[in-house]
Amino acid sequence: MSDRYAVIGNPIGFSKSPLIHGTFARMTGQDLVYEAIEAPLGGFSERVDQFRTEGAKGLNITAPFKLDAFAYANELSESADRAGAVNCLKFDGDRIIGENFDGIGLVRDITVNLGVKMAGQRVLMLGAGGAARGALLPFLRQEPSELVLVNRTLSKAVALAEEFAGCGPLIVSGYAELADLAEGYDVVVNATSASLRGEMPPLPGNVFRGAKLAYELAYGKGLTPFLQAARAEGVAKLADGVGMLVEQAAEAFAWWRGVRPSTAQVIAELTVPLS
Ligand code: NDP
Repeated sequence: MSDRYAVIGNPIGFSKSPLIHGTFARMTGQDLVYEAIEAPLGGFSERVDQFRTEGAKGLNITAPFKLDAFAYANELSESADRAGAVNCLKFDGDRIIGENFDGIGLVRDITVNLGVKMAGQRVLMLGAGGAARGALLPFLRQEPSELVLVNRTLSKAVALAEEFAGCGPLIVSGYAELADLAEGYDVVVNATSASLRGEMPPLPGNVFRGAKLAYELAYGKGLTPFLQAARAEGVAKLADGVGMLVEQAAEAFAWWRGVRPSTAQVIAELTVPLS
């Protein structure tokens, strides 16, 4: 019988994970089935218990269940522990191992697929929600010269900076103060959810001056207000989060199956032109 995996979320109809993992399985000759599960809000544990009873080997977790998955795991990787959230589970007998590959997927997309180095660079990250939190340690491990974290609710960014103190050159700012700090960022990353509503974080225009890359974590939205602003300021490279999505999936696949699929073809298939 084929090994069973799934992505779990609510809603789940939009998820690209079944397509991505189905393609990875064909590309690598792995015998598995991968489905999408919509669990009721408040019903994560019961639904995962059931899936495990059916012999499941692993799960990807999407909104709003990453914190539930964190609580459900009985072992955590360092990245999951640091992120305070789990986006991937592996079931091995009684072991329920939680991982978080979002941050490493983002770093791989920036440094490998887009060929933009972060080491020694000034990096600006907008947002202090789940995605930003998961990206902090992988970003700092790239050894940027400075990582500036800005958030609308400043206290959240301050709390993150306290938690990650000692991990690298992390600086916190509010949007209003950013204009004074902005002496040129190499990489500007939008990890807010503003683009999901067609909104623009209140950025001073000069943050894009001289930037090599503007990266939007939301994907499939074309030119978001953030990417439009970056383009207007002359940023040469614009990207959305489709590569991050596929790269975190490849990390999960490799963790489960012991074989790393190549990602370029899947990223190309899922890319919505930025125009
Ligand atoms: P959260 O809800 O956890 O955090 C949202 C963040 O956005 C907060 O920091 C919030 O600020 C900020 N924000 C929302 N609206 C605005 C606004 N108008 N102006 C300024 N800041 C704003 O979301 P996530 O961290 O889970 O997701 C963030 C983005 O990342 C989403 O677009 C999501 O789709 C994307 N994502 C992409 C993935 C991928 O694989 N490509 C994976 C995971 C997420 P405040 O704290 O002040 O409310």
